[in-house]
Amino acid sequence: MLSNKTAVVTGSTSGIGLAIARAMAEQGANIVINGLGDADAIEAERAQIESDFGVKCLYSAANMLKPDEITGMVEMAEADLGSVDILVNNAGIQHVAPIEEFPADKWDMIIAINLSSAFHSMRAAVPGMKRRGWGRIINTASAHALVASPFKSAYVAAKHGIGGLTKTVALETATHGITVNAICPGYVWTPLVEKQIPDTAKARGITEEQVKTDVMLAGQPTKEFVTVEQVAGFAVFLCTDTAASITGSLLPIDGGWTAE
Ligand code: NAD
Repeated sequence: MLSNKTAVVTGSTSGIGLAIARAMAEQGANIVINGLGDADAIEAERAQIESDFGVKCLYSAANMLKPDEITGMVEMAEADLGSVDILVNNAGIQHVAPIEEFPADKWDMIIAINLSSAFHSMRAAVPGMKRRGWGRIINTASAHALVASPFKSAYVAAKHGIGGLTKTVALETATHGITVNAICPGYVWTPLVEKQIPDTAKARGITEEQVKTDVMLAGQPTKEFVTVEQVAGFAVFLCTDTAASITGSLLPIDGGWTAE
């Protein structure tokens, strides 16, 4: 379905981004993976994508804090794989603290990685998409693009910001065969989330099961984590022709969280 397309997925060395990269490769897209982590583990994931799906997969070490590296990642994909047809802005970090204690450098980092990086990558990728008359841009936002939670000022601001950026670029590209959408997941079961459970249980003096049900899933009506496969499947759907009229949308996949 996506053969002859190239997808650049930022923050795809783990979690949601890796699942999206693999799901797009499964549909035949060549892939650029990106993100931080152990070089050998990243090389193993890259090679695995090529051998599992018979596509080309390159790795870009671009740091999403650095605009010139982000532009370089798009240029590398265009030079080495021919185009950037699908751009998934997924890299993200979190920091949790009350506003009066929130470190200013964490604010700057979260705004840069979770919001500004998408500006820089879209700015670089949209001209090629316009020339070819086809493009799909998917921004991994969050339920926190739609509602807030306390102690997450930078994250919620960045995710609301990417919602506005998504709508704006969608309007600018609507007559060029390009769609721009934001996926807004609730709590997704990723290694990052899994790793927090033992420490949270210890800190709160509750069981690991209670961390899942009473802390993490308290606001998620299904009482189920969203899976990375569900998010990845949704991202693939947005790349189909059936989804061509979906643009400028903030699309929850949150077990009912934002319905409340
Ligand atoms: P994760 O930590 O597993 O993945 C984050 C990815 O971003 C990793 O590949 C990491 O290397 C990369 N990254 C971080 N800083 C970077 C930088 N400076 N430059 C390049 N890459 C960088 O987390 P995840 O849970 O898979 O989250 C992925 C996205 O989904 C994020 O934008 C996050 O806000 C969003 N999200 C996650 C959840 C959830 O519950 N897990 C819910 C809603 C939204």
